[in-house]
Amino acid sequence: MPAENTAPFLDAVARELGEAALDRGEAERSAYGRHTLPGPDLPPPGIIYPGSTEDVQAVVRLANQYRVPLFPISAGWNLGIGSRAAMNAGQVVVALGRRMNKVVEVNDDLSYVVVEPGVSFNTMYDELNRRGSKLMMSPTAGPPDGSVLGNAIDKGGGAGPLASHFDNLCGMEVVLGNGDIIRTGDGGIDADAQPNWHVTKYSFGPALDGIFTQSNYGIVTRAGIWMMQRPPHIRMFFFTFPDDEDLAEIVDLIRPIKAAGVVPTQIRATNDLYLLSSQERHPRYDVATARAALSDGERAELRKKYGIGSWTVSGALYGPNDEALQPALDRLRKHFLASGKATYISHEEAAPRAIFHAAINSNSGRPAGSELAMLKWRPGEGAIWMTPGARLDGKLVNDLQRACRAVAADFGLEYMASFVCGARFARGIHAILYDRNDADETARADRCYRAICEVFLSRGVFVGRAPTLYQDYHQKQRAPEIVNACAAIKRALDPNGIIAPGRYGIS
Ligand SMILES: Cc1cc2nc3c(=O)[nH]c(=O)nc-3n(C[C@H](O)[C@H](O)[C@H](O)COP(=O)(O)OP(=O)(O)OC[C@H]3O[C@@H](n4cnc5c(N)ncnc54)[C@H](O)[C@@H]3O)c2cc1C
Repeated sequence: MPAENTAPFLDAVARELGEAALDRGEAERSAYGRHTLPGPDLPPPGIIYPGSTEDVQAVVRLANQYRVPLFPISAGWNLGIGSRAAMNAGQVVVALGRRMNKVVEVNDDLSYVVVEPGVSFNTMYDELNRRGSKLMMSPTAGPPDGSVLGNAIDKGGGAGPLASHFDNLCGMEVVLGNGDIIRTGDGGIDADAQPNWHVTKYSFGPALDGIFTQSNYGIVTRAGIWMMQRPPHIRMFFFTFPDDEDLAEIVDLIRPIKAAGVVPTQIRATNDLYLLSSQERHPRYDVATARAALSDGERAELRKKYGIGSWTVSGALYGPNDEALQPALDRLRKHFLASGKATYISHEEAAPRAIFHAAINSNSGRPAGSELAMLKWRPGEGAIWMTPGARLDGKLVNDLQRACRAVAADFGLEYMASFVCGARFARGIHAILYDRNDADETARADRCYRAICEVFLSRGVFVGRAPTLYQDYHQKQRAPEIVNACAAIKRALDPNGIIAPGRYGIS
């Protein structure tokens, strides 16, 4: 696409939406190009702030006319995955969240809300409180200013029973790359009222919602998000296990308890450094030896300081009061303590300890952002999130952690992982934290990401959500037929390739 079209395109947008709806200044462009990944910053030629779905449609129409690529974001807090930066520096960022930030509906009876892209976890939480709503949301443990909608369509995950955010998204409004506006599900009927739009996913015909996740087929301008009725009483449980190799047993213990439905939340098994990195900075980063990963002895010292093990298992129970939850808690204690390795930490014991606050807050529906301090583990605030998943087989998951721990150490980096377990599958949330101001360390972080992904891939285990820098790399790891199918959908819905070309490897 010819770069010389960009300035006339931005002029045309200014004429149509008003000069205030766009920014071309150096400072703003540089802020929108910054990210935490091991590649250069990508300042866009401009940033557009549409105020309505019609504005978005107008921008898409002009982009088609001038053949200028767009990169839509909601709030742009995609830290460790690309932040607010586009796929490349030629793409104009469409920052929907700046002006499209209304909570359109809060339905306390049917337990859903309808939001525009700019509604953050924080604003949603405040709005529920302001209205005295009975609803409880599922926040992430990450940035509280992140977008509820943006996180869901990027298949983000949170806490509580509705942790799988895309599963709990119902009914979208989308501006396609060809400029059409569609409403998915029962929003698609040609009638004045669409009362079922946000309450059922099982509508007529193919379920199109999925194609707008982790893709580039359209710009989502509003969506329904399911929530739960706030439970009267919430009780977390924690079990710590002493050794790295305990993960095999942990996973095999979680599987039956999840399948039996005892715990409504997913159960997380989080390693020492993933938890510790939001409380501490790398203890000896300034000295010359910093290029080696923390030793086992140094890790053990930190664990002792915080009273945790190599792995911490956590989850939440919900109910009317303590007495009602006691039988489930007794069953969990018996189940995990029978291993002879676990130490139980009750909700009351955990509550005053900052290291457990992210889990307690997020499972209580409160966005807290305490994990963000992880970014300061090493100077330079480099961060890459890696999200391989694995079937819930203790031996397999433990083999993976052992292999990946060794790879991270080879590159002089720490192994930080949290396995989020359902009954069948665990998503492994891995953080590679590195000094982005140090070229050598940045190169090692990049090689480390790829090497760990190769380890997973060699065992048939693929990633889920991926940082922008690696999306094309991962798409090339898939069979050509699926890559072709993705490209064919792109051609059908966005024939001029206007929306985020290259996102998730789709052009
Ligand atoms: C310490 C830490 C902890 C974290 N914990 C979590 C966690 O617990 N769970 C989790 O899910 N993430 C987590 N993250 C990752 C990330 O920060 C969050 O997912 C964050 O919510 C993403 O930003 P956002 O919601 O503002 O989405 P955005 O940045 O707005 O959207 C994400 C991407 O989706 C696409 N997109 C967004 N909106 C639209 C739209 N309207 N139309 C079309 N495409 C669109 C864009 O490509 C965009 O880059 C964490 C990050 C850090 C640093």
